[in-house]
Amino acid sequence: MLYIFCQCGHRSARPDESAGRSLPCDGCGRIVTTLLADQCKADGSLDSRIAFSAKLTILQGPGRIGEQILITGPGAIDIGKTHDKRLVLTGAGVSRTHAQLLCEANLWRIEDLNSHNGTKVNGAKVQTRILKDGDKLGIGEYEIVFNTM
Ligand SMILES: [Zn+2]
Repeated sequence: MLYIFCQCGHRSARPDESAGRSLPCDGCGRIVTTLLADQCKADGSLDSRIAFSAKLTILQGPGRIGEQILITGPGAIDIGKTHDKRLVLTGAGVSRTHAQLLCEANLWRIEDLNSHNGTKVNGAKVQTRILKDGDKLGIGEYEIVFNTM
């Protein structure tokens, strides 16, 4: 099961098959997306309990404002415009392969993947940066706040 925590305070469980999907919170209707990285066992099933370690909330962008994206490591969550990415962001300024989020030793790090317009943390372009609670990511037209959980 995936255990969902919404900013409205609502907690719920979703079936494993909902991983990667954007669904409304049962409490408030805001969209909550779940993204997993490398949580699958060898047989393709998920670990029995998925604990999300961080949340991205879209503050500004060409769409999806207010969407909460729960993420878990340890593997990379790749971000870009093409549909093979775990986190697909569209609109101007997002490269097909833009950046990735990596969780290492319980710390999340963002790494730019030679994107055309760069990746920003709190307004400054970065190649790579360890993220702290409340950091604001700039990817294309999107402003996304990072929160630990
Ligand atoms: Zn909610």
